[in-house]
Amino acid sequence: MAARLIDGKGLAERIRAQVATDVKDLGEVGLTTILVGGDPASDIYIRRKQEAATEVGILARDYRLPEDTSEQELLELIGQLNGDDAVDGILVQLPLPSQIDEQRALDAVDPAKDVDGFHPVNAGRLFLGQDGLVAATPTGILTLLEEYEVPLVGARAVVVGRSNIVGKPVALLLLAQHATVTICHSRTADLPAHTREADVLVVAVGQPGLISPEMVKEGATVLDVGMNRTPEGLRGDVDPAVAERAGLMTPVPGGVGPMTIASLLRNTVRAARLRRC
Ligand code: NDP
Repeated sequence: MAARLIDGKGLAERIRAQVATDVKDLGEVGLTTILVGGDPASDIYIRRKQEAATEVGILARDYRLPEDTSEQELLELIGQLNGDDAVDGILVQLPLPSQIDEQRALDAVDPAKDVDGFHPVNAGRLFLGQDGLVAATPTGILTLLEEYEVPLVGARAVVVGRSNIVGKPVALLLLAQHATVTICHSRTADLPAHTREADVLVVAVGQPGLISPEMVKEGATVLDVGMNRTPEGLRGDVDPAVAERAGLMTPVPGGVGPMTIASLLRNTVRAARLRRC
C-alpha cells in the first residue's frame, strides 16, 4: 500500500497564520538577515525568508555585504544588531566566504536573538534538555511528527546525517521524546542494516535517491530533508519509490522544506516574547 504523504506545506501555512496573529499581539517584531557575498542559492533562501517574514508582519531587514567583507566587519555589524532593541532575531546565512570563520560569526550572535539556534549556548541547552532556541529544520520535523501523531516513545528512530544544523539536533529532539536513536553518517558500516530497523527514518545527507525501497521497513515514517537540485528538478535524499513501502512520508518539495521557514518565523516570535519578559 502506498504511503500517506505528509503535507508540510499545509501545516506550514497554518503555523504562519498563527505567527501573524502572535506578531499583531506583540506589536513589533524584527528579524534581520545577513548575507555575505552573492551565492545564488543563499540569495534565494534569504529572499524566501524575507518574504515569509514580511508576509506575517515581521519587520524584516536585509543586510547584503560584499564577498570581500572581513571577519571584523561582520562581527562589528553583528555587535550593533545585538545592541539594537528593534532586532529580535539575527540570522547569518551560511556558507560564509572563506576569510570568515563561520563558528566565530555564529558565536558572536546574542543567544537570545539566535533564531537559527546555532549558537553554542542554544546547542548546549538542547543537549542538556533545557529550553532554548532550537534550529528550524529539526523543530519543523518534530512538529510534523507531532501533527501526524507518530508514536515516538520507545520507537526506533534512525537519523542519517550528523550535521550540526540538522542531523545532531534532530537526533537530540527525538531522544528527548524517548525514541531510541541511532545516528548514521558517511563512515557507517552497512547503512541499510540500520535504516531497515527504523520506525522513524530521518534522512539529511544531500545525495539524491540515497535511500531506496529495500532500505526501509514496511510501514515506517520517512522524513526526507534532502534538497538536491538536479537536471530533473528538486530531488530529496529518498527515492520516491520508497512511498510503496513507507506508511507515512514527506514529499520533496512540500514536506520538510516549508516547515523550516515556518519554524524560523515561530522562533523569531519566541525570541521577541522572551526578550520582552
Ligand atoms: P551536511 O553536508 O552538513 O551533512 C551531510 C551528512 O550526511 C554528513 O553527516 C555526512 O556524513 C552524511 N553523509 C554523506 N554521505 C553519506 C552516505 N553515503 N551515507 C550516510 N551518510 C552520509 O548537510 P546538511 O545536514 O546541511 O544538509 C543535508 C541535506 O538537507 C542537504 O540536501 C541540504 O540541502 C538539505 N537541507 C534541507 C533543509 C530544508 O529545509 N529542507 C534545511 C537544511 C538542509 P559525515 O559527517 O561523515 O561527513
